[in-house]
Order: sequence, then C-alpha cells, then structure tokens
Amino acid sequence: MPIAMIVHGGAWAIPDEQVEPHLAGCRAALAAGWAVLEAGGLAPDACEAAVRVMEDAPIFDAGTGSVLTSAGTVELDAAMMDGRTLRYGAVANLRRVRNPITLARRIMDGPGTFLAGEGAEQFALAVGLPLCENDALVVERERGLWEAWRAGQVAAPQYGAPVGSQGPDQQPSAHAVGGRDTVGAIALDSSGNLVVANSTGGTPFKLPGRIGDTPMVGCGLYADDFTGGAVCSGWGESIVRVALARRAVELLERGLPPQSAAEVAIRNLARRVSGGSGGCIILTPAGRIGLAWNTRRIAYAYRQEGGEPTWGC
Ligand code: ASP
Repeated sequence: MPIAMIVHGGAWAIPDEQVEPHLAGCRAALAAGWAVLEAGGLAPDACEAAVRVMEDAPIFDAGTGSVLTSAGTVELDAAMMDGRTLRYGAVANLRRVRNPITLARRIMDGPGTFLAGEGAEQFALAVGLPLCENDALVVERERGLWEAWRAGQVAAPQYGAPVGSQGPDQQPSAHAVGGRDTVGAIALDSSGNLVVANSTGGTPFKLPGRIGDTPMVGCGLYADDFTGGAVCSGWGESIVRVALARRAVELLERGLPPQSAAEVAIRNLARRVSGGSGGCIILTPAGRIGLAWNTRRIAYAYRQEGGEPTWGC
C-alpha cells in the first residue's frame, strides 16, 4: 500500500514575516513523520513524531510557545485517533505536559478515552511521562502579548466577525491579535492504516478551562480507514458546531473526491455559523490529499509515495 502524510501548522492570518518559520516547522514535522513511514513504521508513530516536532517549535501554538489564557497560564489540548480501530485518546487543560500528543497517544493505546486537567496529568505520571512547570511552556513573545492585552493595548481575536472583515482570518488589525497555530497531522502507513493527530494551546486569552475543537473527536479530527482522515484548525467554537472533521469524512463516504470534500466542508462551516472560519486537511486510504481553508492562510506540507515534499502557506 502507498504511504502518504500531510501536516498543517495553523489556519489564520499568518503574518508575512512568520510565513517562513511556519513552513520550516511544517517541513521538519513532515520529514520526521515521513522517516517513520519510509522505514516501514506505523501511522501512530509517524503522527506522534511529526506533532512532537511542532509542539517543540516555539513558533506554533502547541506545546512550548502556546498562547496564554486570560489568567496568564498555558493550557494544552491534543488528540489522536486510529482509523483502523476507531480508538482515540484525547487530553485537555494540561498545564504541565510538554508534549501532549505523546500523552494522547498513550491514552489511545490504553484506556481509549478523553482525560482532562489533573486526572490527565496523573495519568501522565502513571505511564512515566515527566511533568514540567507551566512557566517552562511560556515564551517571551506570548508573555509580552498577554501583558499588552492586560494593559488594554491589544484585544483578543475577533472570532465570529464576518469573513472579509476584521476577524482573525484577516490580517490582524493594530489592536486585535490574530488567531493562532494549532498543529495537525495525518499519516497513512504501508498497511493502509490512517491516523489523525492534533495539538494546540487554544485561542489567545481564552477562559481558563475552555476546550476548543482540537481534542474533540469528530470536530478537530476524525479517521476511518475505509474512507479517510480529516484534521481541522481555526475558530474552535465554530468548528465544534458543525462537527467539521466528521462532516468532511462523511462527504468522502458520499463519494466526493478529497479536495471537493474539504472545500464543501469549509463552505458549510461558513454558511452555517456566522463568521465560521478555519481550515481542513484530508488524506484518503489511496493517499490522495484534500486541503481547504477560508482563513487568510494555512501552513501545510505533504508528501505522497514516489513524490517529493510539497508545502505552502
Ligand atoms: N482550533 C483551535 C481552538 O479553537 C485553535 C486553532 O486551530 O488555531 O482551540
């Protein structure tokens, strides 16, 4: 069976000067995942390897470098789903785990459920994953933005603003900060197994305890070996309302090619939710790609067997 992989590094108005670091991060993540697949490795390992690279790269809103909550802390969400068994592992509101995707993977391989907060961190300790200080996940850029927000010098993203106005899908205005760079990956291994994964720090200045689409199965991600996998990014509250990832896979089930499925899913998001904005990546069991967004940009990289890596932003 052909191997294939696609990763994304966030769907929002990525500023011009951040395009290159986003592309570099996506290329590095793809290379890490591809090395696993090329060596005959498994799709969950490829996804974990790719997402870890992006969690460790401070440019992305995942792991180290994530946005801060209104309380000035980092709270992380992540998930992984296996299209063969339909098992999943999801985590939310993590404050002390450097690589949430690894914890999600352990949960998928173990109890197969969704763990949040303190319970999730206790599970991390139980399976031998170290905890870190919350401060260790905070970078200067985000601390500075949070301080500026507290001082009233910048505003939170204007999610829900009509697409085409000053929403987070547009170039951030001088006052409002933009969206952020949740990361995601889909891998197809040589046994035909499709696995999806994603990781995020959520939205800037979110309420402590807020959980977006990212770790919710059917919203931020979904995979079924028979039809395909989808991973989403963008304004989480809008993505949840249309169960965007499941919707994209359902369109594949109805026979749409992956590119059309991604486009229809994103069009439906904007049609059904006022200001609904985001992006969606798709990979099918045949290794075909779909990619659509209604934000200003999405950073991505993909590779299919026999081909060279392709990327864009
Ligand atoms: N979807 C994420 C959330 O709402 C944010 C993002 O993708 O940028 O938490």
